[in-house]
Amino acid sequence: MTQYQNADLHCHSVVSDGTLTPEALAERAKGNGVELWALTDHDEVGGLERARNAALGQGMRFLTGVEISITFLHQTVHIVGLGFDADNADLRQGLQQTRGGRDARAMEMSDGLAKVGIQGAYEGALKFVGNPQLISRTHFARFLVESGVCRDTNEVFRKFLVEGKPGYVPHRWATLKDAVTWITQAGGVAVIAHPARYKFTPNEEFALFTEFKGFGGQGVEVVTGSHAPAEYVTYAATAKEFGLAASRGSDFHSPDESHTELGTLPFLNSELTPVWELVSHRIQ
Ligand code: AMP
Ligand code: MN
Ligand code: MN
Ligand code: MN
Repeated sequence: MTQYQNADLHCHSVVSDGTLTPEALAERAKGNGVELWALTDHDEVGGLERARNAALGQGMRFLTGVEISITFLHQTVHIVGLGFDADNADLRQGLQQTRGGRDARAMEMSDGLAKVGIQGAYEGALKFVGNPQLISRTHFARFLVESGVCRDTNEVFRKFLVEGKPGYVPHRWATLKDAVTWITQAGGVAVIAHPARYKFTPNEEFALFTEFKGFGGQGVEVVTGSHAPAEYVTYAATAKEFGLAASRGSDFHSPDESHTELGTLPFLNSELTPVWELVSHRIQ
């Protein structure tokens, strides 16, 4: 089996909330030495064909990818899918349904911001949207930076876009079972994205991993741009405890906003099973 070390299996293009095209991302990944690459736009597979062509053109290997928003125990959790058939009808329909609530949510977010004196946020955010079906909090954050309300997107999230803040709207996404099923019945592997980012108690986190496995999930992100180095160690242990394969990905969104560059994180510890081994037959 081909060995990969520099696999980057998590990033975003203009098809969701990234600022680069699939082609520009592929070029950037290749420039940073990425050997195996996946594009994982939020709730959307519309960029994968372009990404695949660009990756192969750059001489990289490619896996299909997606990052699905779900609600688990009242929190939003992200499930990454890798190596699935992007033409699978059930997967495509499920994702379309998931995207469906975003526009109404965005208008409610805008209403919330108007109440604290920020007018026109919906229209403002739309200027940053590459895919009309995928308006996200990130696009609002870019608008509030552009209009001088905050210095950077992090500050916008902290002050306006997280629970308890004026632009936050609770939202019911897909279920854990749905997301894992959409991915696995399309031939892919389901992966819990950036587990350290959630605010679960230890019991709740145990429930997430246990139910995820029960539904057929097989992977967890260990080395991600969303984890501190100590968390690589924590979640390497969790991967072993639950018998899950490990993934690695930058979660790159933009040259101006992302702290983590494509393809530059530490490699996975060799004691872990790399998640791409489970879908090696689907590597293009
Ligand atoms: P949404 O899917 O609309 O809820 O938006 C979620 C996206 O917001 C994530 O995928 C990140 O790209 C971005 N995000 C979440 N929290 C932060 C933060 N604290 N700072 C910057 N971006 C964030
Ligand atoms: Mn994002
Ligand atoms: Mn995420
Ligand atoms: Mn992401």
